[in-house]
Amino acid sequence: MKRMDRTDNIIPMMRPSMPDLKEYMDEIKDLWDNRWLTNMGAKHKALESQLIDYLEVPNITLFNNGHFALESVLETFALNGEVITTPFTFASTTHAIVRRHLKPVFCDINFDDYTIDPSKIEALITDKTCAIVPVHVYGHPCQIEAIERLSEMHRLKVIYDAAHAFGVHYKGVGIGCFGDASIFSFHATKVFHTIEGGAVTYRDEELAPILDDIKNFGIKGPEAVAYPGGNGKMNEFQAAIGICNLRHIESEIARRKIVSERYVAQLEGIVGIKLTQIKKDARHNYSYFPIVFDGYNKSRDEVFEELNKNGIMTRKYFYPLTNSFACYKGEFNTDETPVAKYVADRVLTLPLYADLALSDVDRICSIIKN
Ligand SMILES: *Cc1c(COP(=O)(O)O)cnc(C)c1O
Repeated sequence: MKRMDRTDNIIPMMRPSMPDLKEYMDEIKDLWDNRWLTNMGAKHKALESQLIDYLEVPNITLFNNGHFALESVLETFALNGEVITTPFTFASTTHAIVRRHLKPVFCDINFDDYTIDPSKIEALITDKTCAIVPVHVYGHPCQIEAIERLSEMHRLKVIYDAAHAFGVHYKGVGIGCFGDASIFSFHATKVFHTIEGGAVTYRDEELAPILDDIKNFGIKGPEAVAYPGGNGKMNEFQAAIGICNLRHIESEIARRKIVSERYVAQLEGIVGIKLTQIKKDARHNYSYFPIVFDGYNKSRDEVFEELNKNGIMTRKYFYPLTNSFACYKGEFNTDETPVAKYVADRVLTLPLYADLALSDVDRICSIIKN
């Protein structure tokens, strides 16, 4: 019997995929015998090597979350001064820069895929600029070649926030291979998750011991502490769920693709609704489905309210821009990033997860279309 009460009909914005309980129980069984629960045990090591293979990256260091991974990699490069980044991102990107005592300098985004606009970077470079932190927003690769050229010309580090880009390839290369380093988030809401978790991938293997110091108090041995590090360790239970989830990642992405393609079929060609094109040379991960209301007969906020009234949860992701956060009041001017401001006022990300029913996608789209 189908219950028709409202809670039954609620469609969340996202819903984490879980392995079968039995599969997870089998994976964690050893932990009851060996009692090695954290501090880089067997599960941690196994997940690290499996991720090197899956992401096709040269080096990886796991962390307790994506945010600390980002703070840690900024610390590893001993950066000082100004960092060019974008405000069209999750709070973490900007906060990590600020928390490392660096100054964010906001560059605008492009209107195609909302990643940093490389043609506007050069004007922001000063003698204090030390790095660029671009974001592969919604899993769409940034304009990597242009960013690379600028970073070489001006000797700037490039650290990608690839939190949305798990499993993405660009021109056949794992997205975590570009720049000096990239960070991934394995938060419960991401395409691949360890409940909470994250990683840094990087080119230069000499970063490994520094990242290890930062994530484990700088402890080198029972009587040797070499660095004032913090605690960023991923524990064995997180690693175990990661091992399970990684077994199913291809079907996770494939099922998200089916949902996304249904949205495209329903919404493509509607005047005033802008969808994001997948780059020809990218392998996408279908992490989000953003739409931008640009000249539509209803505003973003009206559609948001209407969907909400029908029990459909969406997010104004990314609104507000990080350069307009209350905690940065008076420090930045959103008029300097007009495209980001324009998009933030018009964007809505629709529900997207592996087991979202296509009939629900149709219902969501028919409400949007009235
Ligand atoms: C999720 C996310 C992060 C932070 O990751 P956590 O694992 O939640 O700490 C950083 N940047 C972006 C763009 C994100 O979406």
